[in-house]
Amino acid sequence: MDRRSILKTSSAALGGALAAGCASVAADANAPRSPFKVASITLPIAGSAEVFPVRRIYCIGRNYAAHAREMGSDPTREPPFFFQKPTDAVQFVAIGTVADHPYPSLTKNYHYELELVAALKSGGTNIPIDQALQHVYGYAIGLDMTRRDLQRGMGDQKKPWEIGKSFDMSAPIGPIHPVALLGSGGDGQQHITKGRIELKVNGQTKQLADLSYMIWSVAEQISKLSEAFELKAGDIIYSGTPENVGPVVKGDVLLGHIDGLPELSVRIV
Ligand code: MN
Repeated sequence: MDRRSILKTSSAALGGALAAGCASVAADANAPRSPFKVASITLPIAGSAEVFPVRRIYCIGRNYAAHAREMGSDPTREPPFFFQKPTDAVQFVAIGTVADHPYPSLTKNYHYELELVAALKSGGTNIPIDQALQHVYGYAIGLDMTRRDLQRGMGDQKKPWEIGKSFDMSAPIGPIHPVALLGSGGDGQQHITKGRIELKVNGQTKQLADLSYMIWSVAEQISKLSEAFELKAGDIIYSGTPENVGPVVKGDVLLGHIDGLPELSVRIV
């Protein structure tokens, strides 16, 4: 049974609810039953009826020199570092819509970080840099929303800053754009390695840089990450934000732009 018929089967059985989440139930009637359902996390794939199942969300920190400096570190000497958000921190934002994004609890300094996101179709360990992009299925535009006061507070105490980064709805993201569809001719493969990345708040530009200013490229990030973790299909990687991160308040409308991808917009509510 292929994936599409699995989805159809489970969709019919459950009246369409959480179809993707129940694919494995339909696939194996002998699987142990659970007393309740937990939704699986998927993202729409642009130009396709299929969805991208999200396995893990990795985020790279301080990956643009000017942002590293504004966060108080020396961009020339720091190797890339990573953290994770829980998979269900995803907030999917459809193209052409402005999604309501709730101002989270506990913070008084809630920040945007606009980022290019790479989505993997395969993985491994110790992936060489020159083979890393072969594992990329596609790209998306995403926000690494951050409770900056909590992140800094925990950092100051040398405690994990999970609470500042890895909370509910902290990962707004658009659909995954397959590399094959981004192709501009030739072999039809077009990886996103340069181009404008810009975030506006209420129409005013706040972050403006070029993807080529990354300290560690997406290929280098994949290679480095794979030294620490076995990467797998479904992993997505937030590749870091440029300088001029800043706070939002309720009512603000954020508009993210990355050359080659549709824009992403959320309203803070
Ligand atoms: Mn970030």
